[in-house]
Amino acid sequence: MNADTLEHDMIYYFGEGPVDKELLGGKGANLGRMRSIGLPVPPGFTITTEICNHYTAHNDYPDGFTDAVAANMAKMEEELGKSFGSTGNPLLVSVRSGAAISMPGMMDSVLNIGLNDDSVEGLARQTENERFAWDSYRRLIQMFGDVVLGVEHARFEEALSEVKDSVGAKNDTDLKTGDLKDLVIRFKSIISDEGKTFPQDPWQQLRMSIDAVFMSWNNERAIRYREANDIPDDMGTAVNVQAMVFGNTGKNSGTGVGFTRNPATGENKLYGEYLLDAQGEDVVAGIRTPHPIEDLADQIPEAYEKLQDISDILEEEYRDMQDFEFTVQEGKLWMLQTRTGKRTADAAVKIAVDMADEGIIDRETAVMRIDPESLSQLLHKRIDPDAERTVIATGLNASPGAASGHIVFDPDEAERLVKEQDEKVILVRPETSPEDIHGLVSAEGIVTSRGGMTSHAAVVARGMGKPCITGCKDAAIDLSNQAVWFKDREYGTGDLITIDGATGEIMDGQVAMKDPQLSGEFESLLEWAEEFRTIGVRTNADTPEDAARARSFGAEGIGLCRTEHMFMAEDRMPIMQDMITAESLEERQEALDKLLPMQQNDFADIFKVMEGYPVIIRLLDPPLHEFLPAREDLLGEVVERSLEGRDLTRLGRMLKKVKNLEEANPMLGFRGCRLGIIHPEIFAMQVRAIIRAAATVKKETGNKVKPYIMIPLVSMEEELQHVEDMVRSVATEEISQVDVDLDYKIGTMIELPRACVIADRIARIADFFSFGTNDLTQTTFGFSRDDSEGKFFDGYKREGVMRKNPFQTLDRDGVGTLVKMAVDKARSTKEDMSLGICGEHGGDPASIEFVIGAGLDYVSCSPYRVPIARLAAAQAAIRQP
Ligand code: PEP
Ligand code: MG
Repeated sequence: MNADTLEHDMIYYFGEGPVDKELLGGKGANLGRMRSIGLPVPPGFTITTEICNHYTAHNDYPDGFTDAVAANMAKMEEELGKSFGSTGNPLLVSVRSGAAISMPGMMDSVLNIGLNDDSVEGLARQTENERFAWDSYRRLIQMFGDVVLGVEHARFEEALSEVKDSVGAKNDTDLKTGDLKDLVIRFKSIISDEGKTFPQDPWQQLRMSIDAVFMSWNNERAIRYREANDIPDDMGTAVNVQAMVFGNTGKNSGTGVGFTRNPATGENKLYGEYLLDAQGEDVVAGIRTPHPIEDLADQIPEAYEKLQDISDILEEEYRDMQDFEFTVQEGKLWMLQTRTGKRTADAAVKIAVDMADEGIIDRETAVMRIDPESLSQLLHKRIDPDAERTVIATGLNASPGAASGHIVFDPDEAERLVKEQDEKVILVRPETSPEDIHGLVSAEGIVTSRGGMTSHAAVVARGMGKPCITGCKDAAIDLSNQAVWFKDREYGTGDLITIDGATGEIMDGQVAMKDPQLSGEFESLLEWAEEFRTIGVRTNADTPEDAARARSFGAEGIGLCRTEHMFMAEDRMPIMQDMITAESLEERQEALDKLLPMQQNDFADIFKVMEGYPVIIRLLDPPLHEFLPAREDLLGEVVERSLEGRDLTRLGRMLKKVKNLEEANPMLGFRGCRLGIIHPEIFAMQVRAIIRAAATVKKETGNKVKPYIMIPLVSMEEELQHVEDMVRSVATEEISQVDVDLDYKIGTMIELPRACVIADRIARIADFFSFGTNDLTQTTFGFSRDDSEGKFFDGYKREGVMRKNPFQTLDRDGVGTLVKMAVDKARSTKEDMSLGICGEHGGDPASIEFVIGAGLDYVSCSPYRVPIARLAAAQAAIRQP
């Protein structure tokens, strides 16, 4: 290939090229852009990424390349009145890499190119600063030796330390001219020891440095970085050749890095640090402690003032917070780089809202600028980023937030320690079930070695806003010895650990944390999001407290109330168990009669909190065995009690029932509407409780109350018809006994593939649908939602078979197609049927975008995800074509 086949010029002089990051790299494009708006940028030019790709492919440059470099060097020489390689007034240049996507520290740069044994003297004369000239020269040899000639960096550092020791110098800046001359000799001999030579010809230095930067695109760390960050290999790096400016010419010079606003807090104030009498790499290397940027106002006031002006100009130009590098040479400020600055979640929100208020961006841009997922950091406690920590294990980041506590393996013990000793505990279990709920309620956080993102522990913890790590394969739990091995470290009951549910990390001991703070800017951002949002956001809440929290985050109703969680309280569980183990209908009814007023109170409180917003209450869904103790535990108790000669009647019954309820695949078993068809009395009790609660609240508050009764796990229209008939007859009977006019609806979960396929027929019976995408994902893939994530998902990802966990982000091709099919079929039967989603995907931004496209009316998610869903829904609406 020769130069004619390139699409662009090979080289662009700063300020004369297009603003094109792909072609010029981020650094080159921004240097050019800064120069073209009149900011002080030392002249230079960018060799394009096209040339990098050519060089990589052919190990050579296109025809005419050398001439193009020479022509651009000549332009620089003319602009500056200096000449490259001259002994009188030498031009020195830097050669730096710069890809389209920043790859910090991955590739190489060489500074001070153009110095040799002659021009170093010229530089000394011209600057009247011999020490500076020799310091620059020894730096060039050191960097060139390391980056271009491949001599080990440490060998130069050793020589530097030796010279410093021999003259008693503490810092590099304490070295005198003679010491630096000595270093130049030592460095050269280090290079020749390796059989290499430091070239005296500046043009050779330049060419070899450009080669080295292009080659560094394919060094091992760069390749690994690209792999880890999904950066394509053929993107290539650009090379920037730029006239050197010097921050190391004395006390009126310096170099630093800055941000136009504080990247940690978002405060609108210049932020950064600098070193006097130093070159850029000294700041990065951390050899000396830099000063905060405000100090520059005293030390070089004119430069500080200029920097403040430039900070405003940069924000005006880029309309975002910038992260820049600068050098001051003899009081004159030079800009060496700018790019959009990385920031914390807090800062991101504050900066976006402040910039909109300042008129720099509009509200739509502010709303688009925040990663919805990052909001969860603001809603929960988090690990102090500056805190020391030892990570001992990692699992799935099932529910965000951070917590410290003493390890407890037993839910009863967790409850006792919290109640009686006011301890903070972390519940560590192989997995959890509804039976363990009191332990989950008591614990600060939960770790399970099995289960995934939709396991019981994950779903419940997210609902409660507690940190939870599931599927932790690094944890080997030995319940009988009350011990857990986190990799090779053993922990027992009472040992202190800290968990970070946002990262899935388990840490030794207590680690410092930060409390959540919801700022005014956070509120503003969510308020602005409302202007764009087109889909409703409801919550999955089972208690009045969760419902109230979700309301405060802006939920517009309850999309799923899982009634099973209401039976878990200490005083209700035994009644529930009596109901399940009842040997006659009368006995069962007796237990149900006791449960009814309890459920009714819960529903009434939830209706009150929801102030007329729709409340979807799902009738009992889980298999009944989940409410009974595990068989092994019961057997242990039987042995204990019989040894003590105590009555075994209740235990015996329970054991019989547990055995009787055992199923090979309980998640595919006797649950959902199947339960309601075989034991209608359970559903009937719940319907009575719902209607009575709604009537009472309506009477008491005068509010509209909107009960929506939802039937789970329907796959046949006959199932729904059967349950619907029963629900309607109980509801009619109840309504006839209360003196209020009550409107209620009956709908169904769509969570089985067959239900999607016959959705048009199911829609004839149902008033509404709610997609249960947890079960729908489980049954579409045939992946167990309790086991797959811990067993083989990691392996699937490693082998490249799976990119995203489908329990977390809706699988558009399979599950999504079923959802879309069901939506279309439902609407073909009932055009305005209410359709929502209440699986965990309802709080996932990518899934929200999909369901908006699929035509759903609302999403429903756990309370703490409501703000995330509101923002994600607004963004998706803005992005919709
Ligand atoms: C679902 O299956 O998506 C759902 C919301 O119900 P659950 O998670 O309670 O099975
Ligand atoms: Mg379900």
